Amino acid sequence: MSFPATLNDPAHIVEMDRAHVWHHLTQHKAFETAEPPVFVEGRGLRLWDIHGRELLDATSGGVWTVNVGYGRRSIADAVHAQLLALNYYAGSAGSVPGSVFATRLLEKMPGMSRVYYGNSGSEANEKVFKMVRQIAAQHHGGRKWKILYRERDYHGTSLGALSACGQPQRCADYGPFVPGFVEIPHCLEYRAQFHDAADYGQACADAIEAIILREGPDTIGALCLEPITAGGGVITPPPGYWERIQDLCRRYEILLHIDEVVCGLGRTGTWFGYQNYGIRPDFVTMAKGVASGYAAIACTVTTEAIFDQFKRAAPDDMDYFRDISTFGGCLAGPAAALENMRIIEDEGLLNNTLLMGARLHANLLGLMGRHASIGEVRGKGLFWGIELVADRTTRAPLDETIVQRVVAECRKAGVLIGMTNRSLPSFNNTLCLSPALVATAEDIDRIGESIDRALTACLG
Ligand code: PLP
Repeated sequence: MSFPATLNDPAHIVEMDRAHVWHHLTQHKAFETAEPPVFVEGRGLRLWDIHGRELLDATSGGVWTVNVGYGRRSIADAVHAQLLALNYYAGSAGSVPGSVFATRLLEKMPGMSRVYYGNSGSEANEKVFKMVRQIAAQHHGGRKWKILYRERDYHGTSLGALSACGQPQRCADYGPFVPGFVEIPHCLEYRAQFHDAADYGQACADAIEAIILREGPDTIGALCLEPITAGGGVITPPPGYWERIQDLCRRYEILLHIDEVVCGLGRTGTWFGYQNYGIRPDFVTMAKGVASGYAAIACTVTTEAIFDQFKRAAPDDMDYFRDISTFGGCLAGPAAALENMRIIEDEGLLNNTLLMGARLHANLLGLMGRHASIGEVRGKGLFWGIELVADRTTRAPLDETIVQRVVAECRKAGVLIGMTNRSLPSFNNTLCLSPALVATAEDIDRIGESIDRALTACLG
């Protein structure tokens, strides 16, 4: 691929960036010595930086977003056509792409029946928190207003979503938080908190039940969980976990909110992560992969039973959902999302995710045989975490700076991989892989090789 001719002064662009842009989730001190990365083009899994260097992106845009890969002309064309026809009208009105996308999306989500549009994962989750509170206010006499969230999960950056944040690094210093959010323990058996449990799924459920009883079941409106915890360590649930969660929700009349912002739209080889576990949610939120980053769109999806509670038309008419998202009415979002979904279907990307996911998993297990620093490999589909340890027997976590060096070594070799957030106070030691769902066997093998070499370079 030719490098864009328009970019004839890369150094100037980098200088402007360094001088004026505040990067997300970045310690800028690093840019006093190193150059900030600036990417200019992408095709499939390949990215080109401003100096024309090619990289294989095993992160789908850094944060599990570009599910169908870079450079999709058909999505750009769909957005272009929609913007020329009509770019925007507030979401109080209907739209052609909004109604078609909602219909297609719900076909993939049996039991769900309404889509509320917004434009970020945080916002989609905030909508649920508000809906739960409004249901509590209007149907439970103000009770059932609390929301349970899980240690190591993340639901977004706004203060409401940060109140439901199980990752200390993300929320420290930003309090005081919104009241009514209650933490439950994470379910990572490798970092077990319930030591002698013969059935870890049951032990987790027992701990959650104890919290429900402590708080009072009539105070708890919803339980908000990632189907597989992403940034908090790529945590897959222990066997039986979800059945028991579902059972607790039924028993104590707690609404189940599944945050599919990362897993949604194919990442785990099913349309949604929850569909791997037979979960029947009351709310599902999604954002990143919905339009693969070609437009900003998020959806809060719920059932008709929930929706019905917002249209009683009481005399004071306060029971409709009094919420708006200005850019939830931008029609680039559903236009891009429709084409994104068509691509996943027509190119068989769910199946490719399963096939390539199995190859990646086998690859990583092979690496585990060669590198004692790999403590555990976890994941599903094209969504994997590699937990690195200093000692396999004690499971002492590998020092974060060494994990960062492993990521840097991969990058030097032309492969972008990620690492999770500091999800426990003391350590951050999990490499994160989430290539686009179009990954080929060659891509997968190259990702594995680069990690192999990087581990050897950093740890021998
Ligand atoms: N939920 C999960 C599971 C996420 O990983 C994220 C972001 O990484 C969010 C919500 C927040 O999404 P956004 O950054 O679009 O607000």
